Amino acid sequence: DAVFGVHSQSTETFLYTEQGEVSYADFTRLTNKLAQALSHAGLQASERVAVQAKKSVMQLALYAATIKAGGVYLPLNTSYTAHELDYFISNAKASIVIVDDTAKDAVMPIADAAGATLLTLNADETGSLVSAANDQSDQFDAIPRGPEDLGAILYTSGTTGRSKGAMLCHRNLLSNTQVLEQTWQFTSEDTLLHMLPIYHTHGLFVACNLLAMVGGSMIFLTHFDAERALFWMPQATSMMGVPTFYTRLLSEPMFTSDVSRHMRLFISGSAPLLAATHIEFEDRTGHRILERYGMTETNMSTSNPYRGERRAGTVGMPLPGVTMRLADEAGKIVIKGEIGTIELRGDNVFTGYWEMPEKTAESFRDDGFFITGDMAREDEDGYITIVGRDKDLIISGGLNIYPKEIESLIDAHHGVTESAVIGVPHPDFGEGVVAILVADDNVTADAVMAGISDKLAKFKQPKKILFVDALPRNTMGKVQKAVMRKEHEKMFS
Ligand code: AMP
Repeated sequence: DAVFGVHSQSTETFLYTEQGEVSYADFTRLTNKLAQALSHAGLQASERVAVQAKKSVMQLALYAATIKAGGVYLPLNTSYTAHELDYFISNAKASIVIVDDTAKDAVMPIADAAGATLLTLNADETGSLVSAANDQSDQFDAIPRGPEDLGAILYTSGTTGRSKGAMLCHRNLLSNTQVLEQTWQFTSEDTLLHMLPIYHTHGLFVACNLLAMVGGSMIFLTHFDAERALFWMPQATSMMGVPTFYTRLLSEPMFTSDVSRHMRLFISGSAPLLAATHIEFEDRTGHRILERYGMTETNMSTSNPYRGERRAGTVGMPLPGVTMRLADEAGKIVIKGEIGTIELRGDNVFTGYWEMPEKTAESFRDDGFFITGDMAREDEDGYITIVGRDKDLIISGGLNIYPKEIESLIDAHHGVTESAVIGVPHPDFGEGVVAILVADDNVTADAVMAGISDKLAKFKQPKKILFVDALPRNTMGKVQKAVMRKEHEKMFS
């Protein structure tokens, strides 16, 4: 209620879609009908509602309805197969499962085995859930929930081992939304261009909770499309995107300072924004992208300042209420300027992994700090630079190598678009450094090596440079280093 309830009676527009507009009052009526349908399907407080559906207004209302009916929302990536859904549904012991009609036959036995009720929701907002909701009253009294009660479980993408369900309580979600409202100065005057998926923390909590709470509106598009983004941008004030949105916008000649004249804020996160993209964006539009850092488990943790310098290549400083420290593996705080793993404490930090007490215990220090696995450095004046995940750290000949240092040098080479530096098993060194580049045709490995060799100690220099058309990325724009390591694991053997 503190988020979706604040403006629930307003006749102002909450969502603009390619099909039309939805006011706050319309959205509330839809939410209430869905909450009634969930209750009639037997949903009890604290039970999980697992949802895999194409992005739609109805799906957003389903999120609000689950919370209002006292449930725990469990959104699932639309690319998961039935086999993968089996794990999430049974692991979370979902009591209601909602999928597209096309997945119904495959998911039915899974839902049956879990004792869950199966309903459907399609991209065109049809399905058995919708039919059930249509017959219901458009009034619903929210089931009261406390700050420590769970609001959502989001499974981490889990590139290694089984995916873990991050438990987020109402305090985690609400406090972060309030902090972001202050930090980024969102108001009811804002219209956010929303093109992110809503099964992930970025598109769901950061964007939707924030705009709903302040009473702003969203241009709610089903996916990112540069042409549609340019069509709608003149009506927006702000945008949240992953770095690939920004690089794709920049590749459109139509993307000019004129198109973005009314925008007050461009925010980037979920993956590192190249400093070059930040600079090119400012040259083209006059806007400085505001980069922030967060993760499923911690909501948003750092941000570049709204007023003050937005420094390219950094993620700014800890948000109000977030305590951050950089520590070594043993938990000892590193000297300022040195690289350490980010550890976080605050209302933003999740309560633990669903039914994985050992994983939870491993991830927290005794004094309550969460060990993120992201490695970073703090500048003199407090700006944080992320240098990569600890799993991506390369150890060659017993020496630590931070891929970001090498990637930054390679990226500065003329004609190189971007690069990924990985460690690959090596018979002599343990791991050998390999650089994978996206570059213009005339860029050669020798030229790149010549450009970086006098700036890098010998042990950090790539033993091999490869060229590819594009780096493998997931839908949130994250470069999949584990995929590349696997592909090249036999390179030196
Ligand atoms: P997820 O849980 O899917 O949101 O992924 C969180 C991870 O994305 C973090 O642990 C970081 O490794 C990465 N990440 C998020 N924002 C940034 C950023 N601005 N720069 C670099 N990495 C980021």
